[in-house]
Amino acid sequence: MSKLSNPQETINVIKKHDFQFKKKFGQNFLIDPHVLDKIVDAAQITKDDFVLEIGPGIGTLTQYLCERARHVLAVEIDKNLIDILAETLSDYDNITIIQGDILKQDIVAISKQYNEGKPIKIVANLPYYITTPIVMELFESRVPLDNVTVMVQKEVAERMKAEPGTKDYGALSLAVQYYAEPYIAANVPPNCFIPRPNVGSAVIRLSCLDKNPVEVKDEKLMFKLIRASFNQRRKTLQNGIANSPELSYSKQDVVAALEKLGISPTIRGEKLSLQEFAALADELKG
Ligand code: SAM
Repeated sequence: MSKLSNPQETINVIKKHDFQFKKKFGQNFLIDPHVLDKIVDAAQITKDDFVLEIGPGIGTLTQYLCERARHVLAVEIDKNLIDILAETLSDYDNITIIQGDILKQDIVAISKQYNEGKPIKIVANLPYYITTPIVMELFESRVPLDNVTVMVQKEVAERMKAEPGTKDYGALSLAVQYYAEPYIAANVPPNCFIPRPNVGSAVIRLSCLDKNPVEVKDEKLMFKLIRASFNQRRKTLQNGIANSPELSYSKQDVVAALEKLGISPTIRGEKLSLQEFAALADELKG
């Protein structure tokens, strides 16, 4: 079987199996070898690694992963792709294919079965509307992770990586950076896929941190404060928090806490670092 990254080969497979693309599963298949190389390079895959691939499609990226990794487990939701994958991956003996929804898999059990419970690498090119919730769920459920390399909408990659005070900085930046160090490995234009998506994409690697970068007494409270601060972006932090239905602090409580921390009471959330949100949460909890 020749490499599917050759666009003609992808078209041949699709025609041969009379495959119909399904929009609801976000099926845009990669056809650019440079992008595929960049994804496997970004994921830092070696022959010692077990890789979980989410959404292999017809197996284009999977072929690259099988070349580099010790073993690959690919979870694909679309039943119509399973026979195709068996064919396109028939040259490899280090692949396991599971038909199913990634949201229903027990990833901790997978890591135990295939990687002795040690941190795994995850690579995914998924429908964009489920990628961020899946990534956050993986982080929050404390699945043992080494890194997660995902294709996301370009703007989402920029938000994940953004620093305080920039226009892209927000709750997603803080949530991601609490668990991982982001690195944008490539920008990927629509013509790298069949069919072409309507938006630009980017490959981002999230290298999971051994330890959260800040210590906070109440993690949940910190994230409530973060959400409240960015829900009303143009409001000051004190107004955002005082107006939040999730919280019961008055403006005076917030002003007092900010003053104690030496932060201006008229500051907006977009200027606060993760360390400052953690300190504010501890002060309010205090
Ligand atoms: N990895 C392939 C590539 O790069 O060419 C295909 C990428 S395509 C954007 C997304 C793939 O994810 C599709 O094959 C789709 O059927 C699959 N998918 C969508 N939702 C899924 C889910 N919840 N669980 C597992 N696979 C899913």
